[in-house]
Amino acid sequence: MQVEFKENFDISGLTTFKIGGKVNKIYFPRNLDEFGYVVKKTPKPKVSGNLSNMLISSEGYDGVIISTSKLKNFYFTGDKLYSECGVKVPFLAQTMCDEGLSGIEFMIGFPGSVGGTVYMNASASGTAVADVLDSAVLYSKSKGKFTLSNEEMQFGYRTSICQKKPYIVLAATFNMRRKPVEKIMRTIEENLIFRKNHHPLLKLPNAGSIFKNPKNNIAGRVIDEAGMKCASVGGAQVWDRHANFIVNTGNATSLDVLELMLKIYDAVYDKFKIKLVPEIEFLGGNNAREVEIWEILKKKRK
Ligand SMILES: Cc1cc2nc3c(=O)[nH]c(=O)nc-3n(C[C@H](O)[C@H](O)[C@H](O)COP(=O)(O)OP(=O)(O)OC[C@H]3O[C@@H](n4cnc5c(N)ncnc54)[C@H](O)[C@@H]3O)c2cc1C
Repeated sequence: MQVEFKENFDISGLTTFKIGGKVNKIYFPRNLDEFGYVVKKTPKPKVSGNLSNMLISSEGYDGVIISTSKLKNFYFTGDKLYSECGVKVPFLAQTMCDEGLSGIEFMIGFPGSVGGTVYMNASASGTAVADVLDSAVLYSKSKGKFTLSNEEMQFGYRTSICQKKPYIVLAATFNMRRKPVEKIMRTIEENLIFRKNHHPLLKLPNAGSIFKNPKNNIAGRVIDEAGMKCASVGGAQVWDRHANFIVNTGNATSLDVLELMLKIYDAVYDKFKIKLVPEIEFLGGNNAREVEIWEILKKKRK
């Protein structure tokens, strides 16, 4: 089977952070058969969706990425919506609105793919994937293709079974309800207005929330109160309107972002004894300092 790929591929343009160096090899399967085939034959594949929650090293990544960006089929029957993993969720939310199907309006404001959104159990406006997912079609090298119900997906705050086991999301089915288009549209508009006022638009490249909310607290608030709003390293800056966002002001490198994350982590720990946990994922390996910082952040220093 011939699956489209590129070697030595500059990935910065595909990430919402607009940061990232050359990736050794990236596949672009055009259907689920190609996707399964290439996952199976690749020793340690890293699947990418819309790269809106990932920081890729400016010094590149020597592994293999499999992009789901061409897996774009979806259909709906009755009150069920089935979508392949590569469909972008704002597009899906808008399309369902036009069809008078309600349930995924919360997805309008973040630039994820269905696969990444299920993997993260992404949420917004008080609704999470866990609230609307019926079932997911997954793939693993040992089990092949299989389906898990919502309960079996082990959803939690920004987590799913796919983060505990090497399971890849091929597709997902969501529970929808019929509603008048105008009502769905109103919710979508409200969600968009809220986001416009509280989140940076992609004109200011970013990767969404940098840290998860600590238990019973809000990451943006503790970062702000630790004096880190507007702090910067190189071209990476804590956004002036919401401190849990780091924006790329133009020429940020992945090392700038990681050094800034470490500063934030330390400032919050020093002030509140709270150990922030990254929400974004880092992919790299060629820069020893980056690897060191990522280890510290993952292991929670002190
Ligand atoms: C401006 C902005 C606002 C955001 N707002 C929110 C928000 O309100 N709520 C929220 O939850 N998130 C938010 N995010 C973060 C992000 O959009 C979501 O987490 C999104 O669901 C990630 O999807 P993705 O396709 O971009 O994933 P990627 O960034 O491509 O990948 C993220 C992780 O998912 C894995 N993955 C991707 N596809 C698959 C697959 N098919 N199977 C298995 N694993 C896969 C990747 O390997 C990686 O580990 C925001 C991001 C931005 C830039």
